[in-house]
Amino acid sequence: MKNISDIRSDFPLLSRKVYDKPLVYFDNGATTQKPQCVIDAFNEVFTEYNANIHRGVHALSDRASEEYEKAREKVRSFINAGSREEVIFTSGTTGSINTVAFSFGERFINTGDEIIISHLEHHANIVPWQMMCDRKGAILKVIPINDRGEILFDEYLKLLNNRTKIVAVTQVSNALGTILPVKEIIKAAHSMNIPVMVDGAQGIQHGAIDVAAMDCDFYVFSGHKIYAPTGIGVLYGKTKWLSDLPPYQGGGDMVANVTFEKTTYNELPFKFEAGTMNFPGAIGLGVAIDYILSLGLEDIEKREKELLVYATERISGIKEVKIYGNTDRKISIISFLINNIHQYDAGMVLDKLGIAVRTGTHCAQPVMDRFGIDGTIRASMCFYNTTEEIDLLGTGIEKVIKMFAK
Ligand code: PLP
Repeated sequence: MKNISDIRSDFPLLSRKVYDKPLVYFDNGATTQKPQCVIDAFNEVFTEYNANIHRGVHALSDRASEEYEKAREKVRSFINAGSREEVIFTSGTTGSINTVAFSFGERFINTGDEIIISHLEHHANIVPWQMMCDRKGAILKVIPINDRGEILFDEYLKLLNNRTKIVAVTQVSNALGTILPVKEIIKAAHSMNIPVMVDGAQGIQHGAIDVAAMDCDFYVFSGHKIYAPTGIGVLYGKTKWLSDLPPYQGGGDMVANVTFEKTTYNELPFKFEAGTMNFPGAIGLGVAIDYILSLGLEDIEKREKELLVYATERISGIKEVKIYGNTDRKISIISFLINNIHQYDAGMVLDKLGIAVRTGTHCAQPVMDRFGIDGTIRASMCFYNTTEEIDLLGTGIEKVIKMFAK
């Protein structure tokens, strides 16, 4: 792997100051910073070949369409999908989950059917299923978690039955960092012919993803969580499902033939890509994938594990701090509270020290309810963070404690 100062210099924003202090960016779970190559690629679209894709016969449109489809192939290879037909571009994880919940619901869900999610879900993997349950008269079942923030696998097995139509779980909890045993979850569901959708929003950026080995039926993620632009995401689905599901949205490009009497739909993946797609975002995502592959996925994983170990030791060494999510299998996220200091107060003081952390429920209110709290402070790290930054966070927390002790 490149040395850390070279990596950091790939990300222009990391060298900026906040309140005249060097920025310490620990909000990577919310969104990641962008390397110069992604910014350049975005710029290149608008200065060299901006034109709508799949529509024109002119040179610019041809080039834009070609680059967009190249990006699809990069995503396909990155997640090891079987074919490009299985890779649909969306607006992000939320857009992808809404697509699955709507289309799967329309096709397969009836009154009294059950959908299983876990207690660790982000709101994006709760609300679309609730909306679908409301429309269809279906029931949402929730896998409970223990005090360490792990799902209770035996309880999951008990929830599976012949009314279960789909399981939708996150790969990694954004609020606590817990890695879920998705392979085992999928295996158990498949033994009863139940499909599984995996929310990869927090899984995609921390190591290699192989949807074929995982054997998930759907896998969704957002570009902005892996160093790509916002507004682009991916819905991977096995062909057998995608070809069977009705489209989510209607409009240009998703159709084969339109008359007032009857419309037929385009082939996969275009059936699920209605309207002008975010092709600059998709192209940026392709470049971001090239970038992280050039760093090496194993090295990224190793480095982030080291950061997690270092941060856990440093932060848990402060006796006023309580860490939420204490499983052995977690990604580089530390979710914590400091004594009885409100997370917003602590977050604001840290901000004045140049340290960006996330405060609040992290769009996972049920997780907070489970622990009887109204939020946490979350430091989410990635490969461009350093142990020096973790030390600054530690010192910052100690300053917060002193300040509120007065
Ligand atoms: N799922 C998880 C686990 C997340 O962490 C997030 C965002 O933080 C989402 C879904 C929603 O992602 P987006 O807002 O990019 O659609």
